[in-house]
Amino acid sequence: MTYTKENITKRKFDVVIVGAGGSGMRASLQLARAGLNVAVLSKVFPTRSHTVAAQGGVGASLGNMSEDNWHYHFYDTIKGSDWLGDQDAIEFMCREAPKVVYELEHFGMPFDRNPDGTIYQRPFGGHTANYGEKPVQRACAAADRTGHAMLHTLYQKNVEARTQFFVEWMALDLIRDAEGDVVGVTALEMETGDLHILQAKTVLLATGGAGRIFQASTNAFINTGDGLGMAARSGIPLQDMEFWQFHPTGVAGAGVLLTEGCRGEGAILLNSNGERFMERYAPTLKDLAPRDFVSRSMDQEIKEGRGCGPNKDYVLLKLDHLGAETIHKRLPSVYEIGVNFANVDITKEPIPVVPTIHYQMGGIPTNINGQVVIQQGDQNSAVVNGLYAVGECSCVSVHGANRLGTNSLLDLLVFGRAAGNHIVEFNDKLKEHKPLPADAADRTLERLNRLEAATDGEYAQDVAGEIRAVMQQHAAVFRKQASMDEGVVKIAAVRERVNAIGLKDKSKVFNTARIEALEVDNLIEVAQATMVSAAARKECRGAHTVEDYERPADDPVAPLGRDDANWMKHTLWYSQDNRLSYKPVNLKPLTVDSVPPKVRTF
Ligand SMILES: Cc1cc2nc3c(=O)[nH]c(=O)nc-3n(C[C@H](O)[C@H](O)[C@H](O)COP(=O)(O)OP(=O)(O)OC[C@H]3O[C@@H](n4cnc5c(N)ncnc54)[C@H](O)[C@@H]3O)c2cc1C
Repeated sequence: MTYTKENITKRKFDVVIVGAGGSGMRASLQLARAGLNVAVLSKVFPTRSHTVAAQGGVGASLGNMSEDNWHYHFYDTIKGSDWLGDQDAIEFMCREAPKVVYELEHFGMPFDRNPDGTIYQRPFGGHTANYGEKPVQRACAAADRTGHAMLHTLYQKNVEARTQFFVEWMALDLIRDAEGDVVGVTALEMETGDLHILQAKTVLLATGGAGRIFQASTNAFINTGDGLGMAARSGIPLQDMEFWQFHPTGVAGAGVLLTEGCRGEGAILLNSNGERFMERYAPTLKDLAPRDFVSRSMDQEIKEGRGCGPNKDYVLLKLDHLGAETIHKRLPSVYEIGVNFANVDITKEPIPVVPTIHYQMGGIPTNINGQVVIQQGDQNSAVVNGLYAVGECSCVSVHGANRLGTNSLLDLLVFGRAAGNHIVEFNDKLKEHKPLPADAADRTLERLNRLEAATDGEYAQDVAGEIRAVMQQHAAVFRKQASMDEGVVKIAAVRERVNAIGLKDKSKVFNTARIEALEVDNLIEVAQATMVSAAARKECRGAHTVEDYERPADDPVAPLGRDDANWMKHTLWYSQDNRLSYKPVNLKPLTVDSVPPKVRTF
């Protein structure tokens, strides 16, 4: 079968949202409630989006359990970001946080409660009171199922507001007209294998992360970076892709996440000597230092031979001292994960953990309204008309070089809502849809028909496996310049193999082989963006730790290999020509004083 222009059906909406995770559904709720005709596409049933797996909490300075205010949260987020986060966006997020959390509470979100009825809050990595003095309780939690509670709450409110869901529909490409404006998307209906054009005044990408470019990942299998691939293929750059977060506590061997909420509740990390080694690396915050810090410390322990187990390749997370009652009340899923994935009863013994890929700090560049921005002429942030992005696929940038735990769920709520509000305002001014260009579906038809024609060729999963192997080897917790340079060459070679993937099964109905092959087109964009951006950044910052760029010997107080004079700037990677460009970090908040760069100790 060949896909042709004639067998494409067309539909029209005010807004098409790609992605039904927390960010997509927070935005769609705003739009549907304002009476807009909004379609939300998702590869899976909405409540199976990766947001459902979020465990630990959503950050907001409510101050329910210890003294707190948004200025502390603002400071922590900037320091956590290793000064790569934009301070205007960070101020906006931290100020809005209490509002969006209370709003969620009023939507019916079943938060855990304190005896006085207020929302329960637990400590989390890098969140402090009084500018780094001591840990603060800022993570609003529903046991260790916060994302689950949040996603179901948002889904129910969307059903009430009559949002239209297109479940098991996979968006394939953006449609941009001759002026560069986005006027819709192409999408594959998985059940039938039919191709559709969804025309819209506005398209919002909310496709989540791409953790599946790595072998060991806490991410869902659907996290293949589709929105990033769609953006990259249509000429939009990807920002700060060298920064990937390793979560300190993935179950060794399984990759499944054990929330930082464990350490928030008092769990500690131990090496083979039974030593609480984080006391040495981060004397103030100890096990609750930010993730890049803890992951590096764990890797260092393992490198120096103090890892546990027969191969000395993991450390232990000890929880039993919290008591079975607290564990069953606050961390019920962690208990189950211990039994099911490590055969460990965490109320009795410690569980083996290793740093595991968890989150992408980079993504599609946006402003604080969620509008996608690009460099044009002498402008660093020219808006792409008709295109927004929110959630993990976007880079606004509030997380900079390292995200603090609980700030992602917060990012979804704050920027999902802000983008929704902005689109409503914009939609009122746009009376008509712009016409579809004649070549609207050409790129998609070419991709689909290449697969239809290719009987021989490699299995998509073999090529995807090679991408993962390269990333795991050349873009790890500790990076080396020579190894990254080698990774750049290898990933370019894998791209050639992506173009030669074969599809043996040409059936139309629920053909998952076709879907997986199309996903590899997105994986390769994200992987190449990561490898090329990483190899070019000649310093250490946040999650990007390169052994070649350690602290200069003659300057013991310099930040660990961080080079603010040359590298305090955002990377932009373009798929066309595989080239890089840079733009400045915004160190100017909206209303308060800037937090000047300093050495990052905890
Ligand atoms: C195990 C785990 C635990 C976490 N815990 C926390 C936590 O406690 N606190 C915190 O702040 N953060 C946490 N995070 C991070 C946070 O959960 C995620 O960053 C966030 O939920 C991402 O939300 P999202 O809306 O951007 O995307 P997702 O929730 O990933 O949703 C993406 C959506 O896009 C759809 N989609 C993708 N591609 C396509 C396509 N081509 N066509 C159609 N639809 C598509 C998917 O079907 C899905 O609906 C955790 C992450 C993980 C993996």
